[in-house]
Amino acid sequence: MRTILHIDMDAFFAAIEELRHPELKGRPLVIGGNGDPNTRGVVSTANYAAREFGIHSAMPLREAYRRCPSCVFLPVDYAEYSRASREMMEVLREFGCAIEEVGIDEAFMDITDSPLGTPEDIGRKLKERIKEKTGLTASVGIAPNKLVAKIASDLEKPDGLTIIPEGRVRERLAPLKADRVWGVGEVTYARLVKMGIKTLGDLAHADDGKLAAEFGENWGRSLKERACGIDDSELVTEWEPKSLSRETTFERDTAKVLEIKKEFEWMALDLEHRLKKRNFLARTVTVKLRYNDFTTLTRAKTMERPTAEHEPIMRAGLGLLHKFPWERPVRLVGLRVSNFITDEQQSTSSEASLF
Ligand SMILES: [Mg+2]
Repeated sequence: MRTILHIDMDAFFAAIEELRHPELKGRPLVIGGNGDPNTRGVVSTANYAAREFGIHSAMPLREAYRRCPSCVFLPVDYAEYSRASREMMEVLREFGCAIEEVGIDEAFMDITDSPLGTPEDIGRKLKERIKEKTGLTASVGIAPNKLVAKIASDLEKPDGLTIIPEGRVRERLAPLKADRVWGVGEVTYARLVKMGIKTLGDLAHADDGKLAAEFGENWGRSLKERACGIDDSELVTEWEPKSLSRETTFERDTAKVLEIKKEFEWMALDLEHRLKKRNFLARTVTVKLRYNDFTTLTRAKTMERPTAEHEPIMRAGLGLLHKFPWERPVRLVGLRVSNFITDEQQSTSSEASLF
């Protein structure tokens, strides 16, 4: 049984701005675009005072202004937020556990059997250390898997610490809105509501046949599993050194598979070149997508035949694209090969299998 911790900074960009402009503390504050509410940008983060006016991330700045003309609007300062993000991630590494960085302000930590104390001790300690080092608060969720840990960290925001033990997962999830699990965005949620499914409890008890008819068998089953808090996914520890990768940030966020395919073409050629230089064959291809809200997801596939050729690498990458949710535009795409064997190992192992 695993114990997974999810940490999510509270109103991250806004909290950083409040820290360096103490006079703004307590005033409604919106960070987005170039900070001018008369331009086309959207809200990146609203502080809690601004959220009282119904302002939330991804809302057009103009709309935010309409709801609260007395709000303070500030431009996004990525350099500063990345610096704070690195500080936060450094604190996480002090704990010596496997870490998956999910976005600029959130991460998973596998604290299973950690010698540092009970899950609660670790959660508290981590929040304290982050506060010491960055001056910012974070919310922590601890649960048997990533899916539930992420839901948990959101339940008592800001400055929360929520622990959901294995035996209480179903009952804690049941009353929550069905869009609380990942993969259920606005579109999917609207389809669920049409079927009379509003909460995760409704979804957990939904009829398999009806779900399959609406979403297809696999997606239907997977939705139901999520509603029950089932998730076996491993932490994806970022881009370990035993891999080769390329990534690119789009000038403009895109939702077009064709644009991503174009990127994959040159990335796969580049990877082929680097694999061949080292006499490596790769078994695993991983695709990483970062969405416009900085959520980052990866999906991996292990190929039947290890390869150094760009064709199969690209094909595997394209195949993986179907495993991502496509409800938000993508700002960055990455392609990685890993799980290497050398050319020689390949010939020995195929010989061995002949005998
Ligand atoms: Mg956050």
